[in-house]
Amino acid sequence: MKTLENLIDDVLEQNRCDFRFRAHRNQHGQITIYVHPIDISGDTLDFAVSGNTLTPIMQIPCDRCAGCGKLADDEDQTPWKYWMELPVQSAIVVLTGIVKPIDCPNCKGLGYTLIEG
Ligand SMILES: [Zn+2]
Repeated sequence: MKTLENLIDDVLEQNRCDFRFRAHRNQHGQITIYVHPIDISGDTLDFAVSGNTLTPIMQIPCDRCAGCGKLADDEDQTPWKYWMELPVQSAIVVLTGIVKPIDCPNCKGLGYTLIEG
C-alpha cells in the first residue's frame, strides 16, 4: 500500500510540492480527507482524521447495492443499476414508478464503504 510519505516523495521527485486535500464528513460523522498532487498525475490517498492522526482508509464497493448506492424497493431489493439496464419493454415498471430506488441501507447511498488500512 502506498504511504503518504511515498506520495510526497513521488511528487518531490518531479520537482513539484503542491497538494490538494479535500475534506468530507462520512455517514458515521467521521471526518475524512483525500490528498492528491496538484497539476500532475498521481495517486490519491484517503485518510480518516482524528486529532492530529491520519489513518489510511480504502473505499470498497458496497456488495449489497453492487456499488450504485441504490436498491429497488421491490421484495428482492435488487441493486438499482440492474433495473436501469433492463430492455425498454421490461423497464415499464421503472418508468411508471411501480418499482422505485431507495438508498442502500448498508452504505447509506454512497455505493462504497470505507475500511481503515
Ligand atoms: Zn450499498
